[in-house]
Amino acid sequence: MQELVDLTSKLLQNGDVNVVIGYEEGPRGVRPVVAATPDDCRRLIFDHRAVHNLATYLSPRRKHLRVRGRAAVVLKGCDAAAVATLLRERQLKRDDVVLIGVRCGGVYRTTTAEGALSADNVADRCGGCALREPTLVDHLVGDLPPEPPTAGQRAARIAALEELSPAERFDYWRRSLADCVRCNACRAVCPLCVCERCVADKTDPQWIESSPHLRGNFSWHMARALHLAGRCVDCGECQRACPAGIPLTVINGKVGQVMGARFGFRPTDDPDAPAPIGTFDPDDSQEFIR
Ligand code: SF4
Ligand code: SF4
Ligand code: SF4
Repeated sequence: MQELVDLTSKLLQNGDVNVVIGYEEGPRGVRPVVAATPDDCRRLIFDHRAVHNLATYLSPRRKHLRVRGRAAVVLKGCDAAAVATLLRERQLKRDDVVLIGVRCGGVYRTTTAEGALSADNVADRCGGCALREPTLVDHLVGDLPPEPPTAGQRAARIAALEELSPAERFDYWRRSLADCVRCNACRAVCPLCVCERCVADKTDPQWIESSPHLRGNFSWHMARALHLAGRCVDCGECQRACPAGIPLTVINGKVGQVMGARFGFRPTDDPDAPAPIGTFDPDDSQEFIR
């Protein structure tokens, strides 16, 4: 995308930023890249394979990048929602970063898919997306592509799970979570797992057993789902990073549905939108508040 190359080269040449975090062609489809010179910027691309949520490089856990100076980051609208959450939670200062939004027509589920976007290969989050032209940005590039198709698999899976009895549902999760090897890739890739010391790493006392066995795995996944409730932007990166195929976006998707139904909250790139958890409202429908 020439517009992106020209803009980022100019930002570096003018000294507005020290690095640009974007996408380049890699050995397995598109991959993230840190461009430090206008020459590097010629490698920047954006297409349906740009599935990574680059907001993760702005997380306070990524301190090693901060030492490289002020960054510009290429963002889809859903990634901008993660930046909005970091700003809302005072994990990031707006002036510390330059945000480059890309008008978006949806992404694949994987970086290596090919061909036209379809219900079979499009990311779960894209159907009906309201963030295709992010507003929380300093620059917006590209023309607005047609709306992406809707993937139905995850919604069908959540609906099918809801049809099960509690015992059957528990059995499903027991079988699914038994495969978790506790590699923490889901945590490492998530832009919103921001704690410098995760509760799962604490040993005195040990809140969550760290070995990959069912009891510890249940604790870990319940803790993570609750810590991400009302914060997760449904980027799907945790599931994509998981080597064990744990259906994490089913958990995130269901929690997101509850957040929508109970609090009227959907991921947004407005950092001033009240966070459903952490905002007190006397009219809150949650009975325990009163
Ligand atoms: S959710 Fe929206 S902004 Fe994000 S990749 Fe899909 S269409 Fe683009
Ligand atoms: S869910 Fe997947 S990515 Fe997360 S700790 Fe378990 S195996 Fe690793
Ligand atoms: S929990 Fe997963 S889907 Fe949600 S923001 Fe983190 S990486 Fe993205």
